[in-house]
Amino acid sequence: MKPAPFAYAKARSLDHAIELLARDDARILAGGQSLIATLNMRLSRPAVLVDINGLDGLDKISRANGQLRIGALVRHVKAENSTEIARSAPLIALAMPHIGHPAIRNRGTVGGSIAFADPAAELPACLLALGGEVEIAGPQGRRIVHADEFFKGLFETALMPHDVLASIRLPAATAATRVGFAEFARRHGDYAMVGLAACARAEGDTLSDVRLVYFGVGSVPVRVRNAERSLERSDVEGALSALRTDLHPTEDLQASAAVKAHLAAVLLRRVARQLASPRSADVAA
Ligand code: FAD
Repeated sequence: MKPAPFAYAKARSLDHAIELLARDDARILAGGQSLIATLNMRLSRPAVLVDINGLDGLDKISRANGQLRIGALVRHVKAENSTEIARSAPLIALAMPHIGHPAIRNRGTVGGSIAFADPAAELPACLLALGGEVEIAGPQGRRIVHADEFFKGLFETALMPHDVLASIRLPAATAATRVGFAEFARRHGDYAMVGLAACARAEGDTLSDVRLVYFGVGSVPVRVRNAERSLERSDVEGALSALRTDLHPTEDLQASAAVKAHLAAVLLRRVARQLASPRSADVAA
């Protein structure tokens, strides 16, 4: 199918983009990897596309004051190959190769993935697992929203229609950081049937601040807090049984709720092993 007719406007600056978005039913165009498909299927019929590609400063990766900042227009391929991300956010480095295929990673952007908020996508879950923040530029200026408050519902976030997601900010990894990532997809590069992104702090064999975030299980990425507490007591069996109360996957086209619950438990064992291994910290050091 072809998209419904739309106008096109190229933003010259972030302020110009916000001004253009104030027009009725405008939509940001970043990598276009999700947006163009929804237009072609006529699931979305915006009156105008506001192209933010090329805006100054939005494609930078930088680290300062213990925080890693990834600009919204950083393409997946750049994030995948970034030594700064491998050092400061090894969880993102682990997740990146699972996002689609090289052609998609060449155009798709980090900001686009977070803004689109597909519940089966890797980056929203990583953002939440890392306890990151989202920097938003809007008509009233800039604001920061914590990942815990950002994902509101199915494809629904704290972004308002006239907002631009400017960057994500992540606490930079230290030598104590442990991360884990695993997913089941029907074929490599497909959206996950179920996935798990995890982060923790290690002192010797003891984990603290464990954050376990599932994706592909419902309308938003899901933290399993009782399972997190169990892993902080090194109790993997306890975490598995906590999962039965923490997680209630919803059926989708990929798998039934029961299959997803089973896969979630398998992933928890794998990721618990990754978190228990000091090699996870070596990646971050
Ligand atoms: P666009 O498609 O340009 O935009 C997506 C939406 O976000 C639009 O509504 C747009 O208005 C909004 N938006 C974009 N940027 C901003 C911003 N800075 N501020 C505010 N709103 C913004 N993703 C995965 O995570 N895992 C996968 O396995 C995966 N597989 C894929 C397979 C295929 C075949 C395809 C086509 C895509 C796949 N993707 C997958 C999606 C891919 O990661 C997209 O790149 C991503 O979801 C959207 O990024 P984009 O830059 O292309 O955004």
